[in-house]
Amino acid sequence: MKTTLRTMAVAVLASALLAACGGGTQAPPGSAPVAEAPSSTPPIAEAPPSAPAASVKRFQLEEVKPAEVVILSLQDLGLPADADSVTPSGAISNALLMDGTLRFSTPGDTGEDQEATLEIKSGAATTISHVLIRSQRLTAAQAYDDGPEEDGLPIPESPPLTVDGLGPNNTITGAPLTFRLQGIGALDLKDKSKGLVMDKNNNVLGRLEDFWSFNPTDSSFSISVSAMQRLLHTLPSGDLNLGLNFVSKDAEFAVNYDMLVIKQGAKVSGRLQSLNGDSVTMFAGRKILLKGYNEQMRAEAVVDANGTFTFENVIPDTYFLTWNDLRNPYIVSGSMAIFKNTTQASVTLVVPPNMLEANTSSAKLAAQRAGAGTPLSYVSGYVTQDGTPPPPRDIGTTEITPSARSATRAADGASATFSATSNGLGQDVITNINFTVPVGTKSVGVKMTVFTYEYPQYTRQQSIYNDTWAYSVVGLPATGLSANGLVNHSHYTQGRTSKTVCVDVTEQTRNAALTVSGFVRAINIGDYLLPTTTTVELTLACKGLSVSSARFLSPNANAHPVLNPIRTGANLPGPYLSIQQSDALPFGPYRLIQRSGSGASHTIPLEITYKPADAKITEVHIGISPDGGDPAFAADNLLGQAHTTDTPGKIKFPRLSLPTFAGSMLNGKLAVTVRIAGTVGDTPAISSDPAEGGKVEFDGATAFTPLYLAADVASLSGRRYGSRDAGGDSWATQRTINWLSNKPYRFDDISGKHVTQTANGRSILGHEGHSDGQQIDMRYADGRGGFGDALGGQGNGAQIKKLIDDAAAEVAGNAAQKPSLSALQAWIAANRALLDREAAHASTRVIYIGDSFIEHVLIDAKFPPGASAASTTIPGVTAWTKPAKVRTEAGHLSHWHISISARP
Ligand SMILES: [Zn+2]
Repeated sequence: MKTTLRTMAVAVLASALLAACGGGTQAPPGSAPVAEAPSSTPPIAEAPPSAPAASVKRFQLEEVKPAEVVILSLQDLGLPADADSVTPSGAISNALLMDGTLRFSTPGDTGEDQEATLEIKSGAATTISHVLIRSQRLTAAQAYDDGPEEDGLPIPESPPLTVDGLGPNNTITGAPLTFRLQGIGALDLKDKSKGLVMDKNNNVLGRLEDFWSFNPTDSSFSISVSAMQRLLHTLPSGDLNLGLNFVSKDAEFAVNYDMLVIKQGAKVSGRLQSLNGDSVTMFAGRKILLKGYNEQMRAEAVVDANGTFTFENVIPDTYFLTWNDLRNPYIVSGSMAIFKNTTQASVTLVVPPNMLEANTSSAKLAAQRAGAGTPLSYVSGYVTQDGTPPPPRDIGTTEITPSARSATRAADGASATFSATSNGLGQDVITNINFTVPVGTKSVGVKMTVFTYEYPQYTRQQSIYNDTWAYSVVGLPATGLSANGLVNHSHYTQGRTSKTVCVDVTEQTRNAALTVSGFVRAINIGDYLLPTTTTVELTLACKGLSVSSARFLSPNANAHPVLNPIRTGANLPGPYLSIQQSDALPFGPYRLIQRSGSGASHTIPLEITYKPADAKITEVHIGISPDGGDPAFAADNLLGQAHTTDTPGKIKFPRLSLPTFAGSMLNGKLAVTVRIAGTVGDTPAISSDPAEGGKVEFDGATAFTPLYLAADVASLSGRRYGSRDAGGDSWATQRTINWLSNKPYRFDDISGKHVTQTANGRSILGHEGHSDGQQIDMRYADGRGGFGDALGGQGNGAQIKKLIDDAAAEVAGNAAQKPSLSALQAWIAANRALLDREAAHASTRVIYIGDSFIEHVLIDAKFPPGASAASTTIPGVTAWTKPAKVRTEAGHLSHWHISISARP
């Protein structure tokens, strides 16, 4: 009997749609399979003219992340399920074809994007798949620029910045640090350049100008060993942000960079152990993959001859650990939280008895999968550390009695329930699945449920009590039966998540019974209270119509990445979903400058899998809800939009335009759910049950931060200035809109719809940032009590410049009346006051102001070079110590920019 096993893709990576790949460059549409490609795009099966041979196909796989086990259905890739061989090269060194799937593991994060090639042979045909492994923590300094403003200026090119002296993953050690801009010659950067160390809560921890010295021969800055010691003393351990602002003496050169750095994380010592506590030494050379859920640290370590492994500088976060065994992925895995002040941690991963068998015969492998010799339920991992766990919680009336660690209920031969609950701190509890499907069975129903008592209070706080869960159902010919996650991500909007899959097993049980195996697991993080329970229910029949999976995909049909900002330097992570509340244009003088074509532009691909596959689907509705239950479904039947149904059981919308959702703006996150309706056989029309499945996932997440169009808000529409971009350009979180509502400022770009970006991560609006709904461009104060266009910066600050020149002429000519000087003094005072005020807020990440004459008058209180009273102090104004969060940047003569933390 051949057991089909193509079901273990982690939800995060379950995606593997193909994109056309001509001559190595990805052609649009990004993730749209060929069947949906616009006619202008050559079919993926067609080799590009430069391809070596007609029998060689080239594919671009959807990009993957470092330190993952990736399992993709060959069928979904358009390849024969029985392909012969796979040969990896480049950054991927192990790959396997097994049970109709392509499997490979990705290496640890090097701080750079990595590339690999998988050559798959099937008979005479060869397929070459290109894979991009995108770094989640770039080590390079990321230049910031706010793109061309309204005046159509060219996009400024920032010189590359080299930083010497950082360790792996940008670890700050005691070594001296040097910052050097490439190709700028000798530029006097000494007095005006700044460097800032901040934590994730926008706290200023250190100013590099107090520690570095300038070397005029190559315009570099260095921090000596002794200065480094002083700096290190002031910094906490863990994940830090470095903001670097290099400004020339004449203020005509100003560039900014962001860097992710680490100060000395924990050393994690790991050990493989058998159920009875013995060291397991037979897996020397195998890799252990480490993945941080929040800060995205991803690394790999090699198991040595003693069965131990080590990770250095692990920053505080919640982690998932697993080995890279492609035949038995995730069976050996665990979770751990590393606390803030942890310096040493030890983690034990239990290898179940069925894995301790060296024999790799197919009979033994089948026994391994069935979990032969392994107890039904056991503790599969432990963590100890020297750091301080969070203080005990008073959970009051919500306290629950610790129940049995796990339970298995086999009600009768026709169904069984497997569950795991962890009531111990950091204890990883696993329950094996073992279920026999009798010969002649037509279908198997699988319901996967994760329930957590951490919801609502602790998941909404994004607390440290961030329990983790995982399940994997093995042996059924279906995808989407394997996932892992943590409750802060998965249970922000609801306490219970459910997913139902109905699997046709007619083929598999034609001649013999089918064994279903796998596991459910749960880990209690932070303390033993408020546990999380993972449950899988298996039944020998399924009824009705169910949505097995629903996924948004990126990039979209125009090859633009959407929903998640891919550049992490200047953007806070998503996903963000733009929710249009009305089709109507507001009344009043500003209605003509509202969104242009926000409906159909910047679409999102949506893919729905449903069971039974032969159902005739007549309606697809999409709904949103803040609490997971009872979604508000839009009236629009999505089948009215372009879609394909080439594969039974699948509907793909290559360019979905979300319907409008009326109602109040949500200060939190929302879940998106699809509901389908149709007929199965001769039965009357039925609908899927949203409580049983249909949550839309994106990159492993089901909670989306909604963005709303600020210019549509009645109190704000009159304050929007500048030209309009397609799709709307002022999409903002509810908190950003609140922020603006409570201020008098006139604003321009915030973010584009669905934070659409270019392939290299620039916002579709042309900015390096502006991809998180929390970055706003605004007019300067005009010094007359308002924010008028002229003195607010219109025309690249032309009127501000003229005011400065006029005031300088008054001073130089010793005019009796100096109205321009008075106006300039008022302009400076008003802008300094607003910048002082906004920089002081804890929610402020960074503020950018202009270089050149803006810098001269605002910071130095001097008339700029070239003005009548060049470089003399402006009468009645003294130099200003600008707040640490205010940085000088080119391209900001027409506006100032603020980045805030304004999301849940
Ligand atoms: Zn900006």
